[in-house]
Amino acid sequence: MDFLKPRYIPMSRRRRIYEGKAKVLYEGPEPGTLIQHFKDDATAFNAKKHEVIEGKGVLNNRISEYVFQNLNDIGVPTHFIRRLNMREQLIREVEIIPLEIVVRNVAAGSLATRLGIEEGTQLPRSIIEFYYKNDKLGDPMVSEEHITAFGWDTPQEIDDMMALAIRVNDFLSGLFLGVGIRLVDFKMECGRLWENDVMRIVVADEISPDSCRLWDIKSNEKLDKDRFRRDLGGLLEAYTEVAKRLGIMSENEPPRGAGPVLVKG
Ligand code: UDP
Repeated sequence: MDFLKPRYIPMSRRRRIYEGKAKVLYEGPEPGTLIQHFKDDATAFNAKKHEVIEGKGVLNNRISEYVFQNLNDIGVPTHFIRRLNMREQLIREVEIIPLEIVVRNVAAGSLATRLGIEEGTQLPRSIIEFYYKNDKLGDPMVSEEHITAFGWDTPQEIDDMMALAIRVNDFLSGLFLGVGIRLVDFKMECGRLWENDVMRIVVADEISPDSCRLWDIKSNEKLDKDRFRRDLGGLLEAYTEVAKRLGIMSENEPPRGAGPVLVKG
């Protein structure tokens, strides 16, 4: 397959398709592909809080690559093709479904606040929630009724997304448990991938400490974006720790200037 071969496209000649809070999408080298570029920007509370944390994009690119490659390998379809460089990955172009799918195993964040459940309480079972992706409205939570009534998605596609979400949750829970981390909750996004006339739902966007709550099993220390949301500091160190535990920061990584420092395990 041609698009799997490396092909250099100078930055200046690339067409920017979309710029979000933490990522930029560029036109890819072949039709049906895009380049996903991870920025260092951290935002929270609907972008009211913003900071540039040098090296965050590099870490999220690597962690998300690792997760998506593993999902592909176990037969969970994703948009991911391969990582291109420190900040970029080649992905398949999909039609993003305007929903955030949140899977929760332990009460935290908005669920803890909304329902008055103490943070850290194990939930009776994994809970799936949907949020409508709309910055102006602050991504409100919606039900399947809203999703089908407003035509954002069909009941069949909702079923497909929920099945994917459960598989991703089981995979991620086990992956992180193996390295001493509790997967409290995470957010994922799905897209419609068209291959000739056949459409399937695949996992898209990113899965990284920006979109997961990850707590150290022993100390309950937060190893995710809550360090930024709650002004705890040490975000880069926490993301580096996640990468290191997953064994994805190789010792021969090229130096990265002021970026995260490798700790020899
Ligand atoms: N999340 C995300 N993007 C969002 C909202 C939430 O990645 O726009 C993730 C968040 O990191 C957490 C999970 O989804 O892992 C559940 O978030 P929650 O609803 O508790 O919202 P928050 O407390 O972040 O407002």
